[in-house]
Amino acid sequence: MSTTFKLNPNVASLPPYNAGMNIAVARNKTGRDDIAALASNENPYGCSPNVSKALAGIEPSRYSDPSCTSLRDALSGKLDIPANRIVIGNGSEEMIAAVSRAALRPFSTVLTVTPGFGLHEIEPRANGAKVVKYPMTADLRFDVVGLVAALRTKPSIFFLSSPSNPVGPALATEGLRHIIEAVPKETLFVLDEAYFEFCGADGPDGVRELETSGLAYVVLRTFSKAYGLAGLRVGYAIASDERVAAAISSAKTPFNVNAAAQLAAVAALEDEEWMRSAVAKVVAERERMARQVKALGYFAPESMTNFLFIDVSHDSGAAFDHFLSHGIIVKPWKEPGFETYIRVTVGLPAENDRFLDALAELKAGQSQGQAGR
Ligand SMILES: *Cc1c(COP(=O)(O)O)cnc(C)c1O
Repeated sequence: MSTTFKLNPNVASLPPYNAGMNIAVARNKTGRDDIAALASNENPYGCSPNVSKALAGIEPSRYSDPSCTSLRDALSGKLDIPANRIVIGNGSEEMIAAVSRAALRPFSTVLTVTPGFGLHEIEPRANGAKVVKYPMTADLRFDVVGLVAALRTKPSIFFLSSPSNPVGPALATEGLRHIIEAVPKETLFVLDEAYFEFCGADGPDGVRELETSGLAYVVLRTFSKAYGLAGLRVGYAIASDERVAAAISSAKTPFNVNAAAQLAAVAALEDEEWMRSAVAKVVAERERMARQVKALGYFAPESMTNFLFIDVSHDSGAAFDHFLSHGIIVKPWKEPGFETYIRVTVGLPAENDRFLDALAELKAGQSQGQAGR
């Protein structure tokens, strides 16, 4: 029997999202228990102890609050932004989907950066838009001059992750200001700050920088990384104005954020001290890892996040297998031109030591291979 049912070609042709290997799958494949999961930029210290206390109060039989009132009020107070400009998502990834759905039509154009975050391409394409990916410089910095020129094409959305996933650097305040000045009034600027908390006091605060810009914009932040709530799925969008926020809200499902996620996020915000201390430990480990990676002779751009992007000068799939055989999950990069890069999350110190040992072994193998040629 053959049907004539047709899929939406925009969806059927989407590239797959490159998700990190799941721990249970890695255990199964390797037969090891001691898996170091360093592929998904999670917080190795978990989350604030406030969260489990708050979760005891959950009522599973009740629908969650569709407007996430308590969480929006808490964020409104923290950020000094009216609650009606904040939309909470089932992870900030849902907000990427909702923003795309709210702003794009078939044949709209979207500008983003390569290497970049997969969903900044996938969600616009699912909505029929054409995505232009502007490259970073050869030494993997943001090409501010190039982006300023590319913005003259007046894309419907400009998606920019700063700090960059997967590369790591953050735009300096000056660079962000140049870009803000160049965003045309026809464009919605979506600044994805998933790693904002790792940036330190020197990094620009997109919410503050954009507040007086007069642009249509959305800043995305998440509880998945610094706050350690990746499994509960909660992130948010801060919109330039109520009209943009209302459109994003209309473009999501009504009960998108479950009750546990809402309770947990409020509890996490009440214990920022915990978050800051976890971030400080991760940042110290990141710097230690970066020094050792460089000492081995590998290139890794400066990172303002909780991960490193490393050119292992060798097929990333083979490198992935090497690390997995040591019980370490990393993310092999697949974007054209970057197939020799892996992205590794900063884990606990002992996990990072294992990663560095396995990287040294990879290096020794590569040098031997070269000597033998
Ligand atoms: C992790 C990440 C997100 C998505 O996070 P959620 O878990 O969906 O909140 C969004 N953007 C970037 C750049 C990320 O790295």
